[in-house]
Parts: sequence; structure tokens; C-alpha cells
Amino acid sequence: ETNDFFFRVEDVHVHYGKAAALSGVSLGVRRSEVVTLLGANGSGKTTLLNTVSGFLPLTAGDVRIEGRSIRGQAPHAVVRAGVVQVSQYRDLFPQLSVRDNLVLGAAVRGDDSDEALEGVYAKFPRLKERHAQKAITLSGGEQQMLAIGRALMTRPEIILLDEPSAGLAPMFVDEIARIMRELKDEGRTMLLVEQNMRLAMNIADRFYILRDGVVREEGHCDHLRANFDALAREHYL
Ligand code: ATP
Repeated sequence: ETNDFFFRVEDVHVHYGKAAALSGVSLGVRRSEVVTLLGANGSGKTTLLNTVSGFLPLTAGDVRIEGRSIRGQAPHAVVRAGVVQVSQYRDLFPQLSVRDNLVLGAAVRGDDSDEALEGVYAKFPRLKERHAQKAITLSGGEQQMLAIGRALMTRPEIILLDEPSAGLAPMFVDEIARIMRELKDEGRTMLLVEQNMRLAMNIADRFYILRDGVVREEGHCDHLRANFDALAREHYL
């Protein structure tokens, strides 16, 4: 069953100084699959994404895309390998326009053609309307859209999303959910970290639950939906 994983995290260990944040995490994502990574505060979800993206060093283990290791590579090299992370506050150039943020998104790898730009604008009409506006002046929800649009400009093989709905007004949470579903329907491959468990389990195909830096539970989201209360209680979700 696991042979068809196109993206793999293999027995990854990460430490902050002497403290272990991840103690042997393995997971996989198939092509066109949406997988959600759940877990209480401090369970290691963001650490895992940042390690995959090359922002943090790992002490042991490996990360592979289509069998090729990206272990220890710099963030730009990870993007070039097709793995892009969306995290609202790190990705954007606050003083640059929406349009320039999108075009620069394609600089490391991708397509900055007018066609690619129009593709993103078609998905996010709000960004098109605000193409000349500085990123810093966008609302939280619009910044999240811009961060996703920027990631799409890199023509990613897999998109890592770090809590895309966090801190957003309900209207934008619905909008982000709609966008996630659209990306899924397009056949995009995604690994989604989300505090909003209902949103996550209604979009994802499979889930992993982290606790204290270890995967404690995994399965299909049907299982998650059927056992929501018990799993949420057990893992403090
Ligand atoms: P949250 O849902 O609250 O964002 P998380 O599951 O993403 O939590 P991480 O942020 O990955 O969890 O944190 C995992 C563990 O590593 C926590 O115990 C946290 O305190 C610790 N940690 C995270 N960043 C650092 C750091 N820069 N230095 C030291 N310890 C850290």
C-alpha cells in the first residue's frame, strides 16, 4: 500500500537543542491526494513542515519526492524540487504589489507568464482587483489567498499548507475551504496542517495525528468523521 507514496517523510527526527520535537515521524502522500496532519498545540506539526521545506535541519531520517531525497536541501532547492510551503506571514513581500509578489513567486521555479498570472487571478478575483495594492495592505484572508497564489506560480508537485484558516474571519474561512476543495478537484497534491479539524476532515482523504512528535493515529478521513469525538478527546484536538 505504501509503495505508491509519491512524497514520503521517513523516520524523521528533529531537535531544538537537546529537546526532541519530532521522534521518528513517517508519513506519505499519493499523487492527487490531500492528507491532513492533525495534533494538539506543540505536537510538532509546524516543525515537520519547516523541516521538509528546508528551514530546519533534521537529526535523522529522510524526505523524498518521487524517490529523490531532498534531505538537508536549502529552501529554494526544495521549491525547485516541486515542494512548496504556504505560510501566510513568511512568504509575502509586504511592500511589493500583489502582482509583483506573484511574479516573484515564480522566480525560483515556475512560470511568470501572463497566462500563469491570469490563471491565479481567475481563481482569486479579489487579487486581480487588487493587483497593484501592496501586500501589507491586504486583509488576512486576502494575504492567505496571495500566499496560495504565489505557491501555485511555482508549479508545485505538492503544496504544504500551514493552518490556512488560522486567525481568519468566518467569511474567509469559507472562502479558503472553497479554494482548497477547488485545488483538490484539480488534482493537486496537498499536505494540510489545520487547527480547524472539521474543515480538514471534510477536504482531506487521509489523516495523521501527531502527539509529542510521534504519529499516534492514521487512517482515512471516513474513520475520523465516524470517530470524531473520541479521537478529538484522546488527542486534545
Ligand atoms: P501549534 O499547533 O501550536 O502551532 P505544532 O504542532 O505546530 O503546534 P511545533 O510548533 O512544531 O508544534 O512545536 C513542537 C515542539 O517544539 C513544541 O514543544 C515547541 O515548544 C517546540 N519548539 C518549536 N519551535 C521551537 C524553537 N524555535 N525552539 C525551541 N523549541 C521549539
